[in-house]
Amino acid sequence: MSARKTVGILGGGQLGRMLTHPAALLGIPLLILDSGEYTPAKQTLLPPQFTSHPDGPFTSESHIRELAKQCDVLTVEIEHVNADVLEAVEKEGLCEVQPSPGTIRLIQDKYLQKKYLADRGIPVAPFQVLSANPTEEDVKSVASQLGLPVMLKARTLAYDGRGNSPLQTTESGDIAKSLKHLGDRPLYAEGWAPFVKEVAVMVVRNKQGEVRSYDAVETVHRDSILRVCLAPLRASGKGMEGVNSRARELAEKAVATLEGAGIFGVEMFLMADGSLLLNEIAPRPHNSGHHTIEACNTSQFENHLRAILSLPLGSTALRVPSAAMINILGVDGEMAPVLAMADSALPVPGATSHLYGKAESRKARKMGHITLTASSDAELRLGLRTILKAQPDLDD
Ligand code: ATP
Ligand code: MG
Ligand code: MG
Repeated sequence: MSARKTVGILGGGQLGRMLTHPAALLGIPLLILDSGEYTPAKQTLLPPQFTSHPDGPFTSESHIRELAKQCDVLTVEIEHVNADVLEAVEKEGLCEVQPSPGTIRLIQDKYLQKKYLADRGIPVAPFQVLSANPTEEDVKSVASQLGLPVMLKARTLAYDGRGNSPLQTTESGDIAKSLKHLGDRPLYAEGWAPFVKEVAVMVVRNKQGEVRSYDAVETVHRDSILRVCLAPLRASGKGMEGVNSRARELAEKAVATLEGAGIFGVEMFLMADGSLLLNEIAPRPHNSGHHTIEACNTSQFENHLRAILSLPLGSTALRVPSAAMINILGVDGEMAPVLAMADSALPVPGATSHLYGKAESRKARKMGHITLTASSDAELRLGLRTILKAQPDLDD
């Protein structure tokens, strides 16, 4: 038997896959719960001896309970899990859960998350809850309080901006279109944040509540999907002094209010006057921390495992002056363009291609990423130019 505790992961996608690499280095047995025998995470790590990775939905109560019996600590690679079952599993003493189910539940509801942060003095964009099945009048009322444009957001099950609908006017047709797009989900509204950059900070927290942040990064989105990440964050001009450390302090302060151990991704908006607004927190490894594998002393994935197992946290410092991460997004039905993007980076010094082993390529699906490390911003730009040329929709 392994002397290490066994970790169970709910979700077997690319984040789980990248957790398997440091797990193998540290000899941590992992069991991955997801539907399918060869999900991205299950491909890279043999299950602990005499067992197999469980095959079933990561939201299924019976599967979670079965997994909990075989593990010492359960963790998640996605926040859209069954927090009630996780809480029960922990209360019944079946298994420890990190981060705590209460934190996962809070973060799952983006309105409650925002309210929680605002109540603790964290700056966020103004926001307002909407009643269930809001009427046109309800939407007009929040728009008049928050101003236009206003962002209508689904409170739950949101990702890649799919639960967002920006509203430019309060004309009946526009409101109806927005509400239809968002469907039958609980909603809230956010005042528009006219940011100059989007920023993210990864923060690791151990069970004693010690928090350590990584350098802030600039995240470049297109159609609400992260495309490129630049580390460290650079911003010049009036009000931008010390923005990297201010972003880190804000992210650490926010994560310090939460319970449980693990890595957290903190998304922020950088405003024209240099101030920062917190957008949302993810209670798991995050796309804006993928560069930490090659660019930092300890990756976000390794620090997550260290945190949940009470191992000493690793240094979060950048190993290089400049780094970037470029997402490889899918093209409908075709694997060849995905491979071409990954391969375009192979001749570039300092570039590393990651493919997630997804069987099918779909439009805008995250299929892999490329990390680029460089000894200067100029060198980084040179490499980025070559890589972005192979990503037709980013080459401008
Ligand atoms: P994720 O995939 O990061 O979980 P999500 O679906 O939860 O995304 P948000 O992060 O809330 O959605 O929003 C997606 C993007 O929409 C943001 O990265 C930002 O570009 C834009 N956005 C969100 N809220 C606002 C706002 N209040 N004002 C302006 N733009 C916004
Ligand atoms: Mg989100
Ligand atoms: Mg987001």
